[in-house]
Amino acid sequence: MKIILEMDKCIGCGFCEAVCPQYWELKGEKTTLKGSKKAGKNYELDVKEASCNEEAANGCPVQCIKVKK
Ligand code: SF4
Repeated sequence: MKIILEMDKCIGCGFCEAVCPQYWELKGEKTTLKGSKKAGKNYELDVKEASCNEEAANGCPVQCIKVKK
């Protein structure tokens, strides 16, 4: 399973950090996906379970978090 952050779309609202702080941390005007690797314009992180990333993805106002199964 993969968590993908489309960084260019992020507006830094802080929702992902609020619901899933073990994976997400706001830094300046953007969020960061902890431990992720840059892949082109995106950041990607392999995980065993989506856990709270589902909630972050569903609630992100600009839909820039994807959970790929
Ligand atoms: S919820 Fe979406 S827009 Fe808001 S900080 Fe997280 S990734 Fe960025």
